Amino acid sequence: MTRKTDMNQEYDVIIAGAGPVGCLMAERFAADLNWKVLLIDKRNHVAGNCFDTDHESGLMIHRYGPHYFRSNNKALIEYLSQFTDWIPGNYIVKSSTNGELYPFPINLLTLGQFFKIADLDAESAQKLLEEKREKIDQPANSEEFVLSRVGKEMYEAFYLGYTLKQWSIHPKDLAPSVCGRIPVRLNKDERYVDHEYQLTPAKGFTAMFQKMVEHPNIDLQLETDYDAVKNKIKATKATIYTGPIDEYFDCQLGKLPWRSLEFDFVEKNVAFEQPCVQINYPNDHDYTRTVEIKHVTGQVHPKTVISYEYPKAEGDPYYPIPMEKNQQLYLQYKKLADQETADHNVYFCGRLAEYKYYNTDEVLELALKTFEKIKTQHGH
Ligand code: FAD
Ligand code: UDP
Repeated sequence: MTRKTDMNQEYDVIIAGAGPVGCLMAERFAADLNWKVLLIDKRNHVAGNCFDTDHESGLMIHRYGPHYFRSNNKALIEYLSQFTDWIPGNYIVKSSTNGELYPFPINLLTLGQFFKIADLDAESAQKLLEEKREKIDQPANSEEFVLSRVGKEMYEAFYLGYTLKQWSIHPKDLAPSVCGRIPVRLNKDERYVDHEYQLTPAKGFTAMFQKMVEHPNIDLQLETDYDAVKNKIKATKATIYTGPIDEYFDCQLGKLPWRSLEFDFVEKNVAFEQPCVQINYPNDHDYTRTVEIKHVTGQVHPKTVISYEYPKAEGDPYYPIPMEKNQQLYLQYKKLADQETADHNVYFCGRLAEYKYYNTDEVLELALKTFEKIKTQHGH
């Protein structure tokens, strides 16, 4: 489906990065504004970090980590439904700590099991948490956030070791929002997230994004770095950049730190190895979590594949690191980016371009907003 790009051709818009943001924007410009779009990615596939593909066993894997699609936005789901059917998101996670397997995020069952209290109800659990939690009104970091919600014992059992492994940074030095991503529940809801829509594309993310960009106005050029086209092909109306913001500016203000991961995919000769898609290991092993994505994809297969995730400082940029000093550096880059938008109609959008720990639904919403803004600027 990749078409050959005519290097002499002019495009209305060039989009650097065929991840969720790039694909959605390409589709909108092509279908809504009838613009000619050049969509490039340095990788050999669309879908960015949501990319899923077949492992040699024939089982689908999530190549860059498990992607549990969720949203509260009905209009977004309706939009995406043009490009995919859905299956229910079966996002259940457990935490292996103190030699036991616990429901995670912490819920009534976790509390009962952890404090060895049979049939704990919501009211008693509330009282228990009141006793356990530390009274910190405005948590300033992830450690304070967790201590203020569940107290020291559960902080040490479930959060401290995992966070140290994941970031190689103490939770004291990470923004409250990092551990704040994980809810604590006084019911028996075992789902990983709270969102109204928890859905997985029936044939995978890659198929959904591929379908999104199959439009006669879109030329897709893979294995192409933005650097290779930026001075050669002209974008007459706009450029969308979804790569790391510091790289766009040749890291002239210094490098923004990113957290990376290494994935080890291991085939197992059993239909299922785990009771659920993800098991977290706060206090054992070098890996943070094991993922058996088959629980989510719903594939029927005699074998299974487990992915072991090892956090790393070097490698593909996966996570911006939510610390104050990084945010300050990002804001300096943002000033340059705003100037670039004003001078050259280059728009910066997405997780890498905005150095923000966004989920997929959030970047898709942002991409739609950015598209609408550009549309309005062009008098539509
Ligand atoms: P990306 O997906 O990163 O896409 C950017 C694309 O730009 C990439 O394909 C890259 O190759 C390309 N690119 C970069 N620089 C250049 C360049 N110079 N030239 C050409 N191309 C370039 N979200 C969820 O909603 N649920 C989850 O469960 C979830 N789990 C996650 C687990 C992990 C391990 C990670 C890392 C992320 C997870 N996310 C999850 C977040 C999700 O991956 C992102 O929100 C989403 O992929 C961001 O889309 P994007 O288009 O901004 O960036
Ligand atoms: N976290 C933790 N224990 C866990 C799971 C998560 O302490 O068992 C913390 C950790 O700091 C992690 C953050 O909560 O980086 C967000 O977790 P999430 O599962 O949302 O991370 P992601 O899927 O984005 O890697």
